[in-house]
Amino acid sequence: MLKLMTASYQSPCKIFQLHCDARTGEAQNFERCTMKLSDKLQGSCTLVGAGPGDPELLTLKALRAIESATVLLIDDLVSEPIAALAPANARVIQVGKRGGCPSTPQAFIEKLMITEVRKGERVVRLKGGDPFVFGRGGEEVESLREAGIDVQVVNGITAGLAAVTSLGLPLTHRDHAHGVMFLTGHARSGGDTDWRALSCLAHSQRLTLVIYMGVRSAGQIAQELLYGLPAQTAVAVVQNVSLPEQRHIATTLEDMAQDMARHRMGSPAVIVVGEVMASLALAQAHPHKQLQTA
Ligand code: SAH
Repeated sequence: MLKLMTASYQSPCKIFQLHCDARTGEAQNFERCTMKLSDKLQGSCTLVGAGPGDPELLTLKALRAIESATVLLIDDLVSEPIAALAPANARVIQVGKRGGCPSTPQAFIEKLMITEVRKGERVVRLKGGDPFVFGRGGEEVESLREAGIDVQVVNGITAGLAAVTSLGLPLTHRDHAHGVMFLTGHARSGGDTDWRALSCLAHSQRLTLVIYMGVRSAGQIAQELLYGLPAQTAVAVVQNVSLPEQRHIATTLEDMAQDMARHRMGSPAVIVVGEVMASLALAQAHPHKQLQTA
């Protein structure tokens, strides 16, 4: 076995041999060392959900993946305290792309991940929220798998879920909301969302609508949703969820766009439309009954 390793990976194995001999020379140690060596040579790739920003909302699995990474590719929605968890000797590459700003092309990011894995690095692709909720995680996984690379995915708490919870409200409620729809307000061109159809469905089926990337199109979205939903439908807009600078407004569908502009609600923010948000407006109208926020 030693001969085989020496032949395949000449210089790392010399180091490895000395290391093992100097300690105990036991076969068990030998196995452990060779496993580490081949891991390094194979490389690995993990897509990790960083959650909405508060490091306390990371999963243990996410934390472990970050701490064992040798290369991290980080989105700009990943908060600084989370990026700071990267090991000191890891290479950190910022590959941000926020709506409307210059961004690293998706194809470049995917190519970089493939190159680094092939070099033997433990690559962690750190993405805001959950990697599979509007995070292009699906595209990245496809591209790596096409290149013959296996990808692990670690869930993160998605911004819409954290937004509502941080206001002390539920996304579903037996009396007010029987389901939830996660939607993007910024669909790829040609794939425009039929907001009118959704408004009718949300009304008849009592669904909460959680809209990501909707700040810039808020006026148009509200206009379309008024087709099937009452003007007084409760809306909450939550910006910078879980971060110290988190802020929110409680409004109604008919006033939503105007209130967002008045309060300068900017990205990143989620817009939540539905009856479950009504108690928030109520609490704001009666500040002594203000809900506890996280
Ligand atoms: N994968 C992410 C979503 C990426 S799309 C997730 O699961 O949360 C980017 C959009 O997510 C933003 O435009 C915004 O609508 C929302 N978002 C992400 N992080 C946010 C945060 N901390 N506060 C509010 N909205 C956030």
